[in-house]
Amino acid sequence: MKKYLDSLPKEIQDLISQASDSAYSNNMSVYLVGGFVRDLILGVKNLDLDIVVEGDGIKFAEVLSQKLNVGLIRHRRFGTATVILKKHLKVDIATTRQEYYPQPAYLPEVTCGVLKDDLMRRDFTINAMAISINRQDFGRFIDCFGGEADLADKKIRVLHNLSFVDDPTRILRAIRFEQRYNFKLEPKTLKLLREANELKMLERVQPQRLRDELILLLKEGCPLKPLNRIKELIKFNFINSGLSLSKKNLVFLKSVESQINWFKRKYPKRRQLDTWLIYLIGLIDPLNINNIKLICKKFAFRRGEEKRILAYKKLEPQFIKELSRDKIKASRVFSLLEPLSYEVIILIKAKFKNKNLEKYIKDFFEIYNGTHLYISGADLHKLGLTPGPYYQKIFHRVLNAKLDGLVKTKKEELGLIKKISEDKSYGAKRT
Ligand code: ATP
Repeated sequence: MKKYLDSLPKEIQDLISQASDSAYSNNMSVYLVGGFVRDLILGVKNLDLDIVVEGDGIKFAEVLSQKLNVGLIRHRRFGTATVILKKHLKVDIATTRQEYYPQPAYLPEVTCGVLKDDLMRRDFTINAMAISINRQDFGRFIDCFGGEADLADKKIRVLHNLSFVDDPTRILRAIRFEQRYNFKLEPKTLKLLREANELKMLERVQPQRLRDELILLLKEGCPLKPLNRIKELIKFNFINSGLSLSKKNLVFLKSVESQINWFKRKYPKRRQLDTWLIYLIGLIDPLNINNIKLICKKFAFRRGEEKRILAYKKLEPQFIKELSRDKIKASRVFSLLEPLSYEVIILIKAKFKNKNLEKYIKDFFEIYNGTHLYISGADLHKLGLTPGPYYQKIFHRVLNAKLDGLVKTKKEELGLIKKISEDKSYGAKRT
């Protein structure tokens, strides 16, 4: 495996070598494992390093993070830690362990073990390979379950017959990896997956774990692929029994996909979209609001996520009608769209095919959303206006005038403020 390691970017090679040194000086053994090894062999870029330590993983993580002078997050309950180097580069560190499952579908209890036992608890053969990064055998490949052969044959294979029963989230993981790499579920694994599905194992999983796997699936480059496979293999009861991914819904999701791509292409510097959330909202679009509220409750989405999910569902027909009209003022478009998130606006553009609406949304992203006033609170103060909540009303009015092209320069903005401040309905107070 040395040749694979040597082909890595220098930054990652340095990191691995620091990890190796830290292990050596602390008399520990360390191995690269999991998705990082899988992607290394496949030649796929992966900046999430998974390291297991024979010994105390948390202590090793502390030593490494000190050596690299970077932050560390400890998860003591699981004996794991994450060392974060940069926004996109991190190392997950675990202590080699065996697990036993207190009850099917519950989080495993962790006890100490050796590397092979650690690999044995993993989901699929392709995720259960390891590479030693210890000085004495740096680059030694450990493949106890035939992961390399399965990678070559493009197969997803579980390690034992009870894998999906022990942890049904692996059903979603299997579908995710199968579709991501264009692999196939190996026949026996497929049979076990179907059996676990018939036993409704996914419905027994703690909803938050299910949510996390669902989010990972929706974060895939092309989430429509695994969604179609879910429809074919297991259906969507684990989310809601009313959900079926009908043809109509699929057409909508395809439109959602092209709108997300449009946004990313056009506005690469804007804030990153929560694309998984857009797909989720699109997926559950056919459900009524009560079912959607039930989903939010069951999966305990964060407040901001739930807010966006419900904001889309609660859009009034009148809102869409107005946004589809000819010649609405820029200030009106702004006041309609500004309270909504980018995610919801993308969904509206995907759903309602209307030339005016499309243009208004484009103008909103391109022009209105970046419009700023020259004046600030300090200017209002200088004009002798005592600070108060009415400042906001004044800014709002000036911004509307600016959007509609009625004022352009700072002088014109100030002129308008003077006029507004004389209007008693604004309640302006003079110092
Ligand atoms: P990705 O490329 O999507 O990040 P990954 O394989 O790195 O994939 P993670 O979810 O980061 O996936 O998990 C890291 C490793 O932990 C996996 O490769 C796998 O070996 C193991 N793992 C994760 N989840 C499970 C699970 N539910 N059951 C067994 N092993 C798991």
